[in-house]
Amino acid sequence: MSTAAVIVAAGSGLRAGGEQPKQYQLIGGQPVLHWTLDAFAKHPGILHVLPVIGEGHEELFARTINGVVTLPPVTGGSTRQDSCRLGLEALEAIRPTQVLIHDAARPFAAAEFISHVIAALAYHDAVIPALPVADTLKHAPGGLIKTTVDRSAMYAAQTPQGFHFDKILAAHRRAFAEGAGNLTDDAAVAEFAGISVAVIAGRRENRKLTTAEDISEADRFLARQFSRELTDVVTGQGIDVHAFEPGDHVILCGVAIPHPARLKGHSDADAPMHALTDAILGAIGEGDIGTHFPPSEAKWKGAASRIFLEKAVHLVAQRGGRIAHADITILCEAPKIAPHIAAMKAVLAPLLGLPLKRIAIKATTTEGLGFTGRSEGLAAFATVTVRLPEP
Ligand code: MG
Repeated sequence: MSTAAVIVAAGSGLRAGGEQPKQYQLIGGQPVLHWTLDAFAKHPGILHVLPVIGEGHEELFARTINGVVTLPPVTGGSTRQDSCRLGLEALEAIRPTQVLIHDAARPFAAAEFISHVIAALAYHDAVIPALPVADTLKHAPGGLIKTTVDRSAMYAAQTPQGFHFDKILAAHRRAFAEGAGNLTDDAAVAEFAGISVAVIAGRRENRKLTTAEDISEADRFLARQFSRELTDVVTGQGIDVHAFEPGDHVILCGVAIPHPARLKGHSDADAPMHALTDAILGAIGEGDIGTHFPPSEAKWKGAASRIFLEKAVHLVAQRGGRIAHADITILCEAPKIAPHIAAMKAVLAPLLGLPLKRIAIKATTTEGLGFTGRSEGLAAFATVTVRLPEP
């Protein structure tokens, strides 16, 4: 018995405003889709998570993963139904016994709620969570009420919807072959194929984020949750220095800045990113960059420093913690840092899982004094605040 999950994230979802589809907008410092994938990937009853993404969203998706382990994403179709079918087709090689199909825009599916859906599949071929409809329903074509609908047997469907894999794949193939293309959820595809679908209790908190209001409410919800659950607040500092050598650019916080010298080092010598990484490692008592990435190992030669930072962030996540704030100061006579601060923050925000306003980057000269004053090298300092669960 094995269960897989298909996460449908192919929509262009611009109703929530902004320039990005809603599943890539940030809540709690991470894209909505990150939370959704994480909920399924860490569930002990789910063996594989298959994301179905929109065409051209590959790069957005790559930045969303942030340590969550999934199967390689599949590109979806022009409708939700098509995307689900393509996701199921991609799972055929693995052939799980059962599959849950879930909307990317529902990031708050709790572990025991997912377990309920899986458990119900022991008794049913297909099962969906749904909420009873509380409001009186009016059938009003053209804006004039024709009838009041009896709501006593009416439910609003949620996801994850659970199915026996072979049956739902066959149902999708049949709907596709017969041109039935207006089915708005997978339960409707099952109904179309004559599979009986059971309803179990849905959850209010498993809401679908649709509007800009939903996104900001979800962001506030996560912020309240972090401050309630992550009450152990720790601080770390990091310092790094690299010398200049002949070259044509420096890399600072992942941004290449033209300069008549470059920074000398084993990796890409991104001093502020190294200081930041050491600050995070310091906050959680995990040694320093050298502990995790010994410079004696040839494989780190020329490495992009983001892999060091990603490792430190991952160690925080493993403890159930989150980075709450980062403050970086760069010491040099040149290049001028200010014009590049916005670009640096844009690199760091998704890596740290932080909103831009929680990252500070400052620069100062040393008035011509010392090694930085003589432009022999560049120094960087970082202070990081991390929130952890109560020990
Ligand atoms: Mg360094």
